Amino acid sequence: MPLIACPACGHQISIEAVACPQCGHPNRPAPPSPAPQTGPKCCLCPAPATTRCQGCNMFCCPRHVQSIYVQHNQGGANELRCPSCYESAMNWKIFGFVFAAIVAVIMLALITGIASR
Ligand SMILES: [Zn+2]
Ligand SMILES: [Zn+2]
Ligand SMILES: [Zn+2]
Repeated sequence: MPLIACPACGHQISIEAVACPQCGHPNRPAPPSPAPQTGPKCCLCPAPATTRCQGCNMFCCPRHVQSIYVQHNQGGANELRCPSCYESAMNWKIFGFVFAAIVAVIMLALITGIASR
C-alpha cells in the first residue's frame, strides 16, 4: 500500500488512511462542499434551478414553474411551464374556449335556422 507523509506531522501514513494515526490529521481532503450556486439558476429568481420549462427549456426553480395540461397531437400531458409560457398557454386555452363558443353559437344558429324552416 503506498505511503504518504502526513501533511501535519510528517508521519508516514497509508494513502488509504482516513486520518493520520499519529496526530489525527485528516488524510483525505474534505469532499469539496457543493459550491453555492454553480448550477443553473432560475430564470426569475436567484434560487437554483431544479427543473426546466418544457415550453422554452428555461431553467426554473420549483417555485416558478407551474404544471399545466397541454394538448398534443397524441393526447395530452401535464407539462411544467415557466410563468411566461404558462401565461401564453392559458391565453391559448382561453382563445380555444372563445373559439369553441363562437362555433357553438354558429352551430346553434344553423340548427335553429334549419328547424324554423
Ligand atoms: Zn499526522
Ligand atoms: Zn424562481
Ligand atoms: Zn417557458
